[in-house]
Amino acid sequence: MSQSDDTNGQVSSLGNPLFTATAPDEPEHLLILDTTLRDGEQSPGVALSAEDKLVIARQLARVRVDIIEAGFPFASPGDYAAVHAIAEQVEGPVIAGLSRCFEGDVRQCAKALEPAANARIHVFIGTSPTHRDSQLRMTQQQVYDRAVSMTALAKTFREDVEFSPMDASRTEPEYLADVVAGTIAAGATTINLPDTVGYATPDEWRGLIEWLRKRVPALDSVVLSVHCHNDLGLAVANSLASVRAGARQVETCVNGIGERAGNAALEEVAMATRLHPEVFGVATQLDHSHLYRTSRLVSQLTGMQVQPNKAVVGANAFAHHSGIHQDGVLKDRRTFEIMDASDVGAGSTLVLGKLSGRHALRNRLQQLGYNLDEEELKRAFVRFKDLADRKREVTDHDLEAVVADERRTGSEHYQLEHLQVSCGTRLRPTATVRMMLSDGLSYEAVAIGDGPIDAAYRAINSLCQVEGELEEFAVQAVTAGIDAIGEVNVRLRRDGTRATGHGADTDIIVAAAKAYVHALNRMKDGVVSGERPTPETVGSAAEAGR
Ligand code: MN
Repeated sequence: MSQSDDTNGQVSSLGNPLFTATAPDEPEHLLILDTTLRDGEQSPGVALSAEDKLVIARQLARVRVDIIEAGFPFASPGDYAAVHAIAEQVEGPVIAGLSRCFEGDVRQCAKALEPAANARIHVFIGTSPTHRDSQLRMTQQQVYDRAVSMTALAKTFREDVEFSPMDASRTEPEYLADVVAGTIAAGATTINLPDTVGYATPDEWRGLIEWLRKRVPALDSVVLSVHCHNDLGLAVANSLASVRAGARQVETCVNGIGERAGNAALEEVAMATRLHPEVFGVATQLDHSHLYRTSRLVSQLTGMQVQPNKAVVGANAFAHHSGIHQDGVLKDRRTFEIMDASDVGAGSTLVLGKLSGRHALRNRLQQLGYNLDEEELKRAFVRFKDLADRKREVTDHDLEAVVADERRTGSEHYQLEHLQVSCGTRLRPTATVRMMLSDGLSYEAVAIGDGPIDAAYRAINSLCQVEGELEEFAVQAVTAGIDAIGEVNVRLRRDGTRATGHGADTDIIVAAAKAYVHALNRMKDGVVSGERPTPETVGSAAEAGR
């Protein structure tokens, strides 16, 4: 069991004498800006389609983040379209767009955000000596002027403006203070301090923020935010140290994904602040019971696996291996657990079986946050019945895997219709594959391979007349047991671009074939990483729009 109650953010500290401070009566609100769709999408090898981004944005609204950073509209027409669609269709959170300090960027960002009732323009510029001298080739004064004038320009479009001095942790403190004061005067309502390269350490970072608050009293009239990277594994620690120094917004990514080693993980910041209100004095408005589901969804759509020992959402996060631990947990969960799997929505709940009807399925899916239309429900029901025939117990996790598989986004240039594989100790692995191609006709091919999956992939390659180089192949069991659903994530590379694919089935060879076909479809759709400029690389092309 856990000490949680029904309201968010109120958990007592389990009697640890180290945490004797009492929780404040009125914890202050800690804002969560989630940047999974912007910084998270900049993870090496990750590309999300506009449709994927909408699905994730809706889930972020369900988990109740305060602000969704939806993308960087100037980067490409695709980014622009995704931000525009999210601004139009996702209700609840403030929708933010990222913009460099160029007039063209700011205008494009404002335009993408137009449909949103509540929107934020987030402007940033590198302020550290390295960024000024090597990347921007601008003087301190020039950077200052640009930051102030572009904050003011953003303000003409939206009341809600965030300014970030990029690489704040390596910026001269006095100069940082000047830029912060100048942009607040120009109308910034949030000042975000990025530890862009993950260089900070908790005590020093906290010290810098405390010093800055004294040096720039106007900071207390705006929201102070941090954006910490995980190059030293300190992103969450630095974020939490900032909260103790007075930061009231933290920028996160689901599963801690993002540039290089990633960003502060949403689920870790969420649970650390929830378990320790007496330490941090804040509460978020997050619905913690959606954290696990959010993690799974982002992992499926980005193709980035969650490591088993990952805090809060990893497969082992609530598993007990040693005898002493198992014995303790059986007697009283609190002996070795500070939170319960069900707190984050990871408890495996047995829900449906062979005899459950369409109505029960629809109800359960709705409770899980999936609103399927009639057609989708019909397909999901067929899959569910098929699964219930093969698997005794169908859990929430199984259902989610099925829905994710059915809802696989993007066009279907290639459709897998039939797959048969024969393999064994004395057989050469052989696959027979039938696929419908974009001309609407079915074709069949047979291939031999080193193993069953290799054979299937060779047959698919010959039908689709492509050669995708398989860069990553990962299998994961959704639930325990011999009849578990297997999920496969693949990453393909072709001509310097990469596409990911995902498939789920009780048969892992079928799941592998689905994942491969999915990746080929995404490659054909142009949902690839490696071509798209990031805020750091878009460079001179954008300066034309200054
Ligand atoms: Mn970043």
